[in-house]
Amino acid sequence: MARIKVIGAGLAGSECAYALARRGHSVDLYEMRPVKMTPAHKSGDLAELVCSNSFRSSNLSNAVGLLKHEMTLMQSLVMRCAGEAQVPAGDAFAVDRERFSAAVTRAIAAEANVSLHHEEVESLDRGDCDYLVVATGPLTSQPLFHAIDAFLGHDGLYFYDAIAPIVAADSLDYSKLYWKSRYGKGSGSDYLNAAMNQEQYEAFVAALLAAELYPLHDFENAVHFEGCLPVEEIASRGIDTLRFGPMKPVGLEHPETNERPHAVVQLRKEDLSDEYFNLVGFQTKMKVGAQQQVIRMIPGLENAQFARFGSMHRNTFINGPRHLRNTFQTKKDDRVFFAGQITGVEGYVESAAVGLLTARYIDEHSRHGDIRPLPYHTALGALGRHVAESSPERYQPSNVTWALIEDVVGRMKKTIKRERQAEKAAAAVLAIL
Ligand SMILES: Cc1cc2nc3c(=O)[nH]c(=O)nc-3n(C[C@H](O)[C@H](O)[C@H](O)COP(=O)(O)OP(=O)(O)OC[C@H]3O[C@@H](n4cnc5c(N)ncnc54)[C@H](O)[C@@H]3O)c2cc1C
Repeated sequence: MARIKVIGAGLAGSECAYALARRGHSVDLYEMRPVKMTPAHKSGDLAELVCSNSFRSSNLSNAVGLLKHEMTLMQSLVMRCAGEAQVPAGDAFAVDRERFSAAVTRAIAAEANVSLHHEEVESLDRGDCDYLVVATGPLTSQPLFHAIDAFLGHDGLYFYDAIAPIVAADSLDYSKLYWKSRYGKGSGSDYLNAAMNQEQYEAFVAALLAAELYPLHDFENAVHFEGCLPVEEIASRGIDTLRFGPMKPVGLEHPETNERPHAVVQLRKEDLSDEYFNLVGFQTKMKVGAQQQVIRMIPGLENAQFARFGSMHRNTFINGPRHLRNTFQTKKDDRVFFAGQITGVEGYVESAAVGLLTARYIDEHSRHGDIRPLPYHTALGALGRHVAESSPERYQPSNVTWALIEDVVGRMKKTIKRERQAEKAAAAVLAIL
């Protein structure tokens, strides 16, 4: 049996430590709270939920619903404790925060194979352990941040994210859009363009300026860099500023009329699937309702369905495709794993899911010397795909979405398609238990 050091007892670290312990491994779990707090956590409990109490939809037609189902099949601690602490919330799976964290804390305390240390860890030293798991989350403490940065060769550790919305390809009105890369470079089918005349553009800017925004936490005030501003912040700098930034029309003349529009929104195919498009440069702090309203003002996007909403947060994460395998092992050392939000997944459920997967993969590695990752048509496997196979140049954290899950069923009506996909995914997970 292996000995594993896990740093961070949040959603991912707790799930990982528990699953390893249940497989008979010996775990040293380090959590710095309550000795040293993060700017968002309030207690010393394990797996504290820092903001909303929602684990989102449980519907299997929703990618996160499928992910939770797969986790339950794999006997997830987080899903079990969430079930014990569930409160009514319609289609969403919401929990009583205190009861949830207390249940996780109790389960870990009762696990003889886990030694819990309330200490801040400042290095990636594995000591006499066989494996190291770094699961310190979006608010990783500064000394460890610097140690991770050095481990990664000062190349690809970030402290905030800048996420643009993703819309479904089949919700777009193609009669109002045209394919073209700027100056005709590239394949010609990489970008779809939504052109605006002056009147449409000015109404759009006015709507952006009036949109309701999520408030910044105090510790997030410093996250905005000039190269990556929220779209509404760019709009606030002057009526034409967006036209010189992400909505620049130069080189995007309409292929039929050769006219240059007043402004253009570019949509880029998500690289893992052609069912979805990303709005280039549209990272935003607009509230979800405001995003829907404003983005649907873009010609061709009047009925856009959102696979992911845009956001910007303080968020420590590493460039997964540059540094991680789809098994969450680092390319540098196959006994050092990263788990949770720090890998570039986003959300309570996804973070716990990576903790669960990491435990499974370490167990496999310790027994057989290699790992067979879950297939990409499962929601769990798709998280590994996102982390390892996204474009390293454009890597940003993501929730689980259908855009990440490999399509092995082909074209059919969406409701039936999702049912088939969920069946195949569940079967693949059951096959490896
Ligand atoms: C302000 C804020 C609001 C959020 N709101 C939501 C939301 O509403 N819904 C949602 O799904 N997600 C939300 N998230 C994202 C959420 O934090 C993650 O989804 C989830 O908590 C990540 O799990 P994790 O295990 O990776 O990290 P965490 O749950 O944060 O766990 C990491 C743990 O590591 C510990 N730690 C850090 N550094 C060290 C160190 N050096 N030594 C020892 N321990 C250390 C921390 O104390 C923490 O307990 C929010 C994040 C932030 C910052």
